[in-house]
Amino acid sequence: SSFDLVKLAEEIIEEMQLLAKQNQNIIYQHTGTQHIVRLDQNLLKNCVVNLIGNAIKYSGENTFIEFNTEITETSCQITIKDNGIGIPEADQKHLFEAFFRAHNTGNIPGTGLGLNIVARYAALMDGRVSFESQVNQGTLFAISLPIL
Ligand code: ATP
Ligand code: MG
Repeated sequence: SSFDLVKLAEEIIEEMQLLAKQNQNIIYQHTGTQHIVRLDQNLLKNCVVNLIGNAIKYSGENTFIEFNTEITETSCQITIKDNGIGIPEADQKHLFEAFFRAHNTGNIPGTGLGLNIVARYAALMDGRVSFESQVNQGTLFAISLPIL
């Protein structure tokens, strides 16, 4: 069914900002005039919450997390960018495997399931998940979803 993506995004930020570290600010921007999308709201919310949760967990205090949505005639693009620990190149190909955790997570807790769920949920919406990351620079995750 249909829902207002911008409204959902604003609600998610309000929730996630409470879980953020000291001075870790989630900045939301949206482009496109249309705000209503026909997608599964629960699947989408779960994906975004997982990715913002990771951005919070794997980046430090006093940083920005950029969350963008763009709605076009045919697609919905969601990006989440942090300036955190990044993902080592050798680990990147395993990232969506269940229980996989990169080698630079140290004592940061986690089970390695979040991204596996994101990948499955995106697939259920016929979408794609991609990322770019550099160790000690940060990480960008993108979800691209067809609409209509
Ligand atoms: P959880 O199941 O609680 O989400 P997790 O965060 O360890 O545990 P995933 O979300 O699946 O698991 O992420 C898998 C691994 O990918 C993480 O353990 C971490 O090594 C790496 N990772 C994911 N997102 C980021 C990010 N934004 N920055 C750096 N590393 C990340
Ligand atoms: Mg996670």
